[in-house]
Amino acid sequence: MLQTIPKKADEFEIIESYFKGLTAQDGVLLGIGDDAAILNLLPDLNNQLVVATDTLVEHIHFPSHADSYQIAQRALCVNLSDMAAMGANPRWFTLSLSLPRKLATNPWLKGFSAGLAEVADEFKCSLVGGDTTSGALSISITMLGEVPSGSAITRGGANDGDFIYVSGALGDGAAALSVIQGNKNNKSIESERLLKRFYRPEPKIEFGIKLRDVASACIDISDGLVADLEHVCRSSGVSAYVSTRDVPINDDVKTLCEAGSLEWALFGGDDYQLCFTVPEHLCELVDGWSADGLLDLKQIGRMTSCKDGVPQVFLDGSIVIQENRGFDHFG
Ligand code: ADP
Ligand code: MG
Repeated sequence: MLQTIPKKADEFEIIESYFKGLTAQDGVLLGIGDDAAILNLLPDLNNQLVVATDTLVEHIHFPSHADSYQIAQRALCVNLSDMAAMGANPRWFTLSLSLPRKLATNPWLKGFSAGLAEVADEFKCSLVGGDTTSGALSISITMLGEVPSGSAITRGGANDGDFIYVSGALGDGAAALSVIQGNKNNKSIESERLLKRFYRPEPKIEFGIKLRDVASACIDISDGLVADLEHVCRSSGVSAYVSTRDVPINDDVKTLCEAGSLEWALFGGDDYQLCFTVPEHLCELVDGWSADGLLDLKQIGRMTSCKDGVPQVFLDGSIVIQENRGFDHFG
């Protein structure tokens, strides 16, 4: 090991004081404290395990002035969002925490632990293990969820003719980022809502579970609608036509950037809404959920067979230009 690790006592104290209490009993035969956890899948359901990992790094995924409570909530919520996109029911998670020595303090850890506990409690999942080292601040969570066998929704199931939908409204993430980066007045009411959306995105767990039987493909929007829809296109081998005037955008986002809000909605990341495709014969059912106020969703376009064998996203009939892509760490 090249990096310096904290004295064992510190490390164990951190685990004992701040993380051990976050293990609920639900399905946990053995939680934090041994070499590994032992977990019981739900009995008699022939379930499959669904596993996803997401890492948050300071400066890249959150600003350095973010407090530990906010960081913890964001870390857990973005991982839960992956479960939502698969139609999975989240159950357990592990936490790999790399922490600068100067942050290994009671206030920081207490806030972090409280943030995690609150989200874990809301979504009924519990911390069952992890790893703690000293180093640059980064939080990696591995989420374990369950689905009835064969019912997980992937990116690869969309077909020619399926309709494209999104949950909620888009552009909140990019708008929030502009507030965080100080481009807008931080004190406004819309800023408060947006900051909340950034630090505590709402994982669409119930929404995803409801989509199990109706969506042919699904993805959560983390890199931007166009970039993420392109993943669906590639995995499914079809193209997507999006009608940009149908893309839902909240009024406060429009106010914040009248000229650029569509840009934010199409190419901004961090929305953590779901984008999914529905076969035509099931659209009436899905639209009914929206009409009844059960689910907040909007139809924004349609999948088509791809010309020349190249899956692509078209905005109002035009191919998306290369520079306008969503976030890519190595791009
Ligand atoms: P090992 O040396 O066997 O890897 P560790 O000393 O790293 O064990 O961890 C001891 C126990 O504490 C393990 O059960 C591990 O899963 C748990 N643990 C370590 N860090 C964390 C953390 N950040 N969150 C939750 N559990 C943790
Ligand atoms: Mg370890």
